[in-house]
Amino acid sequence: KEGVYLEVQTTLYDQNDHLIFVRDVTRLYLLEQMRKDFVANASHELKTPLTVIKGYLETLSMFKDSLPASMQRGVDSMSDQSQRMEHLIEDLLLLSRLETNDKREDHQWLNLNEICDTINKTAQPILSDQHALTFSIPENSYIYGASNELYSAFSNLVVNAIKYSPNGGKIQVTWEKTEHSGVFSVEDQGLGIDPRYIPRLTERFFRVDKGRGSSTGGTGLGLAIVKHVLIHHNAKLQIRSQPSVGSTFSCFFPIDRVRQDALLAAVTSD
Ligand code: ADP
Repeated sequence: KEGVYLEVQTTLYDQNDHLIFVRDVTRLYLLEQMRKDFVANASHELKTPLTVIKGYLETLSMFKDSLPASMQRGVDSMSDQSQRMEHLIEDLLLLSRLETNDKREDHQWLNLNEICDTINKTAQPILSDQHALTFSIPENSYIYGASNELYSAFSNLVVNAIKYSPNGGKIQVTWEKTEHSGVFSVEDQGLGIDPRYIPRLTERFFRVDKGRGSSTGGTGLGLAIVKHVLIHHNAKLQIRSQPSVGSTFSCFFPIDRVRQDALLAAVTSD
């Protein structure tokens, strides 16, 4: 962590000559490091008081019926907000772990069908009658990666597709193996996104519409998490979207991380 950090840039100058720019970015680097440490420490410190608040709230909820109506609403609201805060802290901690390469999970061959089954089950409570969520994952599809990280990334994409399709519609999750990659895609028929916002979607806390995002209970960190998980898997995110028509988020994994193999079930790591 010590030393001097330099950024080197070369540009073609005239026909044969190159100009080389060397910039000292040590200060920027150290500031960025301080920001990451601060977020990690603050999130960690917030966990304990929140656990205490949640504990007392649970006790209070048990006696809710004996409270006046206005206080009952207060208890419900505190429970909702503490739940939101818990999600936010979990997402901040996950993001800091991803950014700082701290406590990294081992990579192994993972059965994508099983990951998608779990996502399907956890998504059921937030689906309405107007939504049709389908998974089209060929049998024995395997991906080489970190189990919790990939689960977080894929479930964020599926949950977003549901949240940003308030009028329902089809949500299709697919996995396709091509010559050069394995592509995990989530397609929805929801609100869509204005093209000028697409490059900013993976920034921390960026929301197309602040009101829309917070009312759906999101933390604004989901796509930042997706981006960092994909970086760790040498994968790329592609976002295609049209306002009022829908969006498709596709993750392209390099072919060496992809297998279609019935025999792989017996192999847990490679
Ligand atoms: P949030 O917690 O707000 O959902 P995300 O980082 O997951 O945060 O997403 C950032 C923003 O991108 C969202 O607030 C929303 O405006 C937009 N967005 C993400 N997924 C979709 C989608 N499938 N359809 C439309 N907008 C989306």
